Amino acid sequence: MKNIYLIDVTNRDGVQTSRILLSKLAKTMLNIYLDEMGIFQSEIGFPTLKQEVNYINANLALVKKGAIKNIRLEGWCRAIPEDIELTFKNCPEIKHLNISVSTSDIMIKGKFQGRKTWKDILKTMVTALKTARALGAVTVGVNAEDASRTETDKLVEFILAAKENGGDRFRYCDTLGADDPISIYQKISEIAGATRFPLEMHCHNDLGMAEAVSLAGAQGAVENGVDAYINTTINGYGERAGNCDLVSTILALKYSHGFEDKVHLDERVDLRKSWKIARYASYAFDIPIPIKQVGVGANAFAHESGIHADGALKDRRNYELYDPEDVGRGEPEQLHTGRIITTGEYGGLKGFMHVYDKLGIHFNSEKEARRILELVQYANLLNQKPLTDDELRFIAEHPLEVASILTITP
Ligand SMILES: [Zn+2]
Repeated sequence: MKNIYLIDVTNRDGVQTSRILLSKLAKTMLNIYLDEMGIFQSEIGFPTLKQEVNYINANLALVKKGAIKNIRLEGWCRAIPEDIELTFKNCPEIKHLNISVSTSDIMIKGKFQGRKTWKDILKTMVTALKTARALGAVTVGVNAEDASRTETDKLVEFILAAKENGGDRFRYCDTLGADDPISIYQKISEIAGATRFPLEMHCHNDLGMAEAVSLAGAQGAVENGVDAYINTTINGYGERAGNCDLVSTILALKYSHGFEDKVHLDERVDLRKSWKIARYASYAFDIPIPIKQVGVGANAFAHESGIHADGALKDRRNYELYDPEDVGRGEPEQLHTGRIITTGEYGGLKGFMHVYDKLGIHFNSEKEARRILELVQYANLLNQKPLTDDELRFIAEHPLEVASILTITP
């Protein structure tokens, strides 16, 4: 049986969404948390965008120095040679890319207005792919935007062209969220059989089925002998009604009757990191977690009605499929209600030293402390909210990379 891996796209699809914003420091923290959670790859953003370049290069430097350990950091760009060249000009150390082009008739006609035929799309994708390889890409995923409205034989032709020209995976994008579990399972089974090529599922939630559709597609891939990769976002944030939610996906693979013990999820994935990453993303995005959110919502383990409470008290397995501890919750949270010293944009050295003392971090000299304080001030300015303990620790541990992450020059 083949494996299922997770590629989180919060830092690309999540943040490109209307009314959703994330600072470059927060994007970096998500990459670190995704790494700790054992996620295979993080789509970190857009290497062709000027305002992303310092953040991306600093994150690649964090990989080089071992601060980000196993996760692959991958950039997204259009599958055109100009974007690939600009990507490597901006970020020479980038190793992993996903390149994207629309493949459906409706998009080819509607977007390119008759300027491009199907053959042009194939040709440009192959040229972009070869350019990426020539410029040093170690892996390239090739994305078909609107794949779910593209004929299967065209997708097979597209995938075989990618396979023959150095692609590593194909991303099947259900861009409009229009697929259902049964038809995607059949379609992906057919594609996997015809191409023998690793397949990524990228599904949107417009019909409330993003997780079901992603899992059914992945099942079609692994049953037909190819590795599957599921694209997720933290708390499901993403375009319109969102993307496939990270925590729900892991839970479904581990505990649903259909998948439990029957599929091989990447064994590095650590579900117990769910609570931490979901809470941080909610804080960083300024979007509350819905009370009924899978695994991490306030009500995910709450019982009140007579029959349920009685049953859960007698044996929690009566009403709970998995435990709070499985998703990393169960510990009480501390809330300061008395005097508190914080450090931030307008803070001084004494308050800063007090905060870091409490974190167990000490500085070798006043000069060093003042340098870190300055970074804290800028980080707070750019985040526009109090810095978390992990952010404060990260700033003290990696001042050079943090300075780069905080530098945005129009
Ligand atoms: Zn998307």
